[in-house]
Amino acid sequence: MDDHASALGDTDDSFGYAKVDQYNARAVERIASAFRGILEEIGEDPTREGLAKTPERFAKAMQFLTHGHDLDPAEILRSAMFREEYRQMVIVRDIEIYSLCEHHVLPFFGKAHVAYIPNGYIVGLSKIARVVDAFARRLQVQERLTAAIRDCIQSTLRPLGVAVVIEAQHMCMVMRGVQKQHSIATTSAFTGGFEQDRTRAEFMRLIG
Ligand SMILES: [Zn+2]
Repeated sequence: MDDHASALGDTDDSFGYAKVDQYNARAVERIASAFRGILEEIGEDPTREGLAKTPERFAKAMQFLTHGHDLDPAEILRSAMFREEYRQMVIVRDIEIYSLCEHHVLPFFGKAHVAYIPNGYIVGLSKIARVVDAFARRLQVQERLTAAIRDCIQSTLRPLGVAVVIEAQHMCMVMRGVQKQHSIATTSAFTGGFEQDRTRAEFMRLIG
């Protein structure tokens, strides 16, 4: 968690990174107890040494991996909006995403590329990555994740356009052998200026 916050160049802990260090003890207990039952159902012995603390670790991991539900992505943006007349495309490329698919509760992960065209306001670049993370740290489908990031930036920053492209590998496909192991799903969502071919093409060229 600390690594993650510092990787985003941001030590401000007021939007959830500190909070997830303080796990909800009662929820941890309830999740752990339910998970012990799951271990038994798959033929395991939850009391054997290697598994003794697994239910509690699982409970804490799940709380961390879904802590985006407790974050307010619009507020993250509003905390760092600045008046600025710059009107060229702003792109944040290669934002790492780690999420869980809501159908199998297995990870999907990859990269997000986000762009916007300012309309009087710009936003601290690290906040774009924080918004992506706030939506990714939930049970998700990639399509909704992509649209949610676009809609949050559009309605909060009110730019002249937003573009979001996500490329991700889904463990529910890779591990279950449903598709080729290296297949990558790409989703995109656009508003405003990015709905025009030329602007969109420039964005796609810039993210490679
Ligand atoms: Zn899945």
